[in-house]
Parts: sequence; C-alpha cells; structure tokens
Amino acid sequence: MYRNVYNGSLSIKDVNKEVELVGWVSKRRNLGQILFIDLRDRSGIVQVLVNEGIKCCEIRNEYVIQVKGVVKQRKEANNKLKTGEIEVIASEVNLINSAFNPPLIIDDKTDALEDTRLKYRYLDLRRPIMQHYLDIRHQIKMSVHEYLNKHHFIEIETPMLCASSPEGAKEYLVPSRIHHGNFYALPQSPQMFKQMLMIGGLERYYQIARCFRDEDLRADRQPDFTQIDIETSFLSQDELLELMEGLLYKIFKDTINVEIKLPLRQIKYETAIKDYGSDKPDTRFDMKLFDVNDLLNDVNIPFYNKEMSIRAIKVENIAHETTRKIIDALNLEAKKFSLDFVNVLKYEQNQLHGSLIKYLDENTIKQLINKSSLKENDILIISHGPYNRVCSLLGNLRNQYAKKLGLIKPNTYDLLWVVDFPMFELNVEDNKIVATHHPFTRPKDECLKTLKSDPLSALSYAYDIVINGYEAGGGTLRIYDQNIQKEIFEILGLSDEEIKNKFGYFIEALKYGTPPHGGIAFGLDRLAMILGGTDNIRDVIAFPKNLSAVDPVSMAPNKVDQSQLDELGIIIKDN
Ligand code: ASP
Repeated sequence: MYRNVYNGSLSIKDVNKEVELVGWVSKRRNLGQILFIDLRDRSGIVQVLVNEGIKCCEIRNEYVIQVKGVVKQRKEANNKLKTGEIEVIASEVNLINSAFNPPLIIDDKTDALEDTRLKYRYLDLRRPIMQHYLDIRHQIKMSVHEYLNKHHFIEIETPMLCASSPEGAKEYLVPSRIHHGNFYALPQSPQMFKQMLMIGGLERYYQIARCFRDEDLRADRQPDFTQIDIETSFLSQDELLELMEGLLYKIFKDTINVEIKLPLRQIKYETAIKDYGSDKPDTRFDMKLFDVNDLLNDVNIPFYNKEMSIRAIKVENIAHETTRKIIDALNLEAKKFSLDFVNVLKYEQNQLHGSLIKYLDENTIKQLINKSSLKENDILIISHGPYNRVCSLLGNLRNQYAKKLGLIKPNTYDLLWVVDFPMFELNVEDNKIVATHHPFTRPKDECLKTLKSDPLSALSYAYDIVINGYEAGGGTLRIYDQNIQKEIFEILGLSDEEIKNKFGYFIEALKYGTPPHGGIAFGLDRLAMILGGTDNIRDVIAFPKNLSAVDPVSMAPNKVDQSQLDELGIIIKDN
C-alpha cells in the first residue's frame, strides 16, 4: 500500500492520526537537525517535518517519495496553505523514484517561458493551477452530461474520418490508403451528422465532440478543439435557448458556484455592432459607440466624405496621458482595419483640443461636448470610413481601453445572446455572397419573400452566446424545406454539380420527412478559460499546439517514412 490518505485532505481534524502519504517533493528546507518537505499530490500540499535520526532517503525537488508519520497541529499556522494548520511528523521517508532537476519551477508562479512549459508539459501539469484548469474543464463536462441526460438527450459519437463539412474554415485532410488520391476530412464540427440524427428521429442529441479547423492560431483558438455539440427537433428558437440557459446556469453553479441571472438578455446583431462595434461585445463596461455624422453634416472637413460613417467613442480620464505617440499608435491601429486615421479630441481646461477643431464652429463644438457629456480629461476618438470598418476599429479600441483602464471588475460574468444575424455576407476578397453561418441556416420567416431579390438584408435564426466578450457558442435553426434549401444554394452561386458533389447525400436525406430542428455548439475550451479565469486557451488543454500549430512535446507534425508515403500514393513537392 502506497498511501492511506490524500495530502490535501488533511486538516486539524486529523491530529494524532497515523498517515502514509505519497507525492512529489515540491520544496525542501534543510535546517540541519530538521528537514521540512512540502509534499505535493493532486489533492494539494502538506508540510512534512523530518527530525534528525529518522530513516530518510535522499530528498530533492520532484523526487517521488512515501512518508509515514503522525499528523500534528502546527505552532504557527500557514494561511497560504489549505493544510496550513497541521504538519506531518515523519517516522520514515522512503524513495519511490528519483527525478532529474526540472527545467521549470513547478509552482503556480513559474518564470518559465511558455515554450519551455509546453515542451515539458508533463512537468507543467504538476503545477496546481494547471490541475485546477483541467479540473474546471472536467467539471463542465460532468455538468453537461448530468443536465442533458436529465433532459432526455442521448450522447452519440459521429465519425472523425468524414467528408468536408460546411463551416467554411480550411480543413485537415487525411489521405486514404485504400483509395489513392481520395481524402477524408477531419470534421470542423459534426454539423451534417447531427442534422441527419434528427432526420433519424433521435430528437435530442449531444456529444463532447473533437473538431478540427486549419486556421491561423490566436490566444483563444486551437487547431483541434472541443465542442459541446447539441441538436434538437421540434423546438422553437426561444424554447431551445431557454433549455440552453438552464445548462449554462448549471455549469456556472457547479464549477464556480456563481448563479447567473436568467433569462439571459438578447440583443440583435445589428445593435451589437452599432453599440459595441462587435458581434461578441464585452458588456461588462459601457463606452458605447455613437454617431457624430449628424453634428458634422454641415461642416466642411476636407478629409471627411459625407457618404461615409463618422462614429466615435469617449474614453474617460485619459486626455493628459494621450501624447502624440499614443495618437500615432491609434492611427496605426486604424490602418489594421483599412482606415486611414482616427481623429482624437481632448477635453482639457473646459476646452476641446485637437487637429479637427479648426474646422468646427462654436456651435458644433458645443454640441459635440454635450452629446458625449465630456468631462475634464476625457477624450473622443472619432473614426471615419465604411460603417463596418469604423465599428470594428472603435469596438477594438473600446476593449483595449477597458483593459488598460481597469474598467472590468474581476470575477464578473456577463452573458447574453446575440441574435438575428444576417443570413449572408459579402466576402471582401472576391465580392461573392457567402453564408454567415453555414448554408443550412434557416432564414427568418419574414425574410423569405425578399430572399432572392435582397439576400444581403435577410436575417436568420442564428444565435451566439457571448460571455465576457468571448463567443462561447453559437448555433442556428436549420432549413428543413428542400425548396428553401435549393434557393439558398442558388443565392450562394453553387451549381447543381457542386451541390451534388459537396452535399448530395445530405440533400437526399432532407427528402425523407425532416423534422424542424436546430442546435448549438459551445466551445468547451473557451468555457473552461472563462470559468478558470485565464485568457490563454492553451492553459485549459492538456497537450495544446503552440502558435505555429506544432505540438511541442511530440513535435507533430513530423516527416514520415518514404514507405508510408508510397503506400498512400503521395509525392511531396519541393517548393
Ligand atoms: N456547427 C456549428 C459550429 O460549429 C454550430 C451549430 O450550428 O450547431 O459553429
């Protein structure tokens, strides 16, 4: 027997108990006649005191040891440790395994670079904070299973090796050995399968699904990620969202003991863009975007074109710090959104200052101050250009300033639905109409009549759940009428041949009594990030890829043997 109790479970109630413990040496302090060891297992850390003369193996950091001893109350409690009121007086300390000196400090606070942490992930995972993140992730999954099971959902696995799915990102392909020149795609999501499960009469499906998208990586994105994937039949949008709110409530309650207020509010996509410049607005702070076109309409500013949008945000209490250098940086930021510049107006000593002022008359200046309720030391950032770009830039600056100025209270959670997304959008690169979500999304009933004549104004039954500025999930009601589906494909400019090749099997399935259905997918990784309190998605994944899409432990992707390539009929082109 290695142990009879877990280190982190020991408390004052266990005083005088004889214990056998195992774990890793987290810290050791040798005071000559006595040796202190911080012994770590998954449940926590406990202090072990080894007196002179006690049988004790060599002790170094990360050695695996067994301790036999008695629990005693400490003279002075250590409040930083959960077990800080007690310590274990050792009668015997045995070596189970030695360890090389670890290349990183194994503690919540480590100075190791992320590259080192990822390379030695198995050591990084010994840090209590990392185990906490994985525990949160596990808790979320447990709540999902419990809640969905209670609501008559059935968990079903769908294939990993499948045909293309319609999410629109680049896909990971797997060459077929048996059918040379043919490829499977790894699923971007189980979209087609879960819809076919509804046609199959399963009515309520879920799956903790692994998904794959070959996109550029960001702090909140990974090439292989996990979705809580859900599909239901015979529910209206409101019924489905209410059911999902119950799930979110349970997840928050079970994992971090926070009771979210239901029902969640819904805001339209159009409002989200207008007020926050984003379809995933962080609504934990205000700083809304507003129009200034109306005020500047009669004013002649040579570099403003009246056909364009002129919109602004007010940032409070920052004018004195807003130097030329900062304004230059804001202009650079504008360039990232394909806009030429921003105009910054500072309100100092009851006056508005900035290069725009010389074009404005007294009255306009007054109106500008009133409209934005400017106070001493506030600034206005004004952006001019196409509506969407202006909104995106200001939305982005809004988030940056909130972080910089500490406007977001820690440990607050703001959840909302963004609804009524446009059905289609224009792809900027080739000016082609593409589906905003995917081509199986149902247009809103009231938009059906004008779908063909004015597709870009059509709205859809699509909804995203936004938490603290993250898109934590999203879904849609689906088309179940073949004629509407055909119309959508026509609007997207797909030929009959393309439809047949890409989605032929699915169009066939739709013909056999498809129920009205709809679903959603929550990003498990993002939920774990939000609930774990980290803004790095890699923290909540045991073995993540780095920003170059490489697994730093195994160094995948790797070269393979020529014989494997030959078997697959693949020739690698030098470029
Ligand atoms: N398959 C969609 C996605 O991954 C979610 C859904 O519509 O259910 O974004």
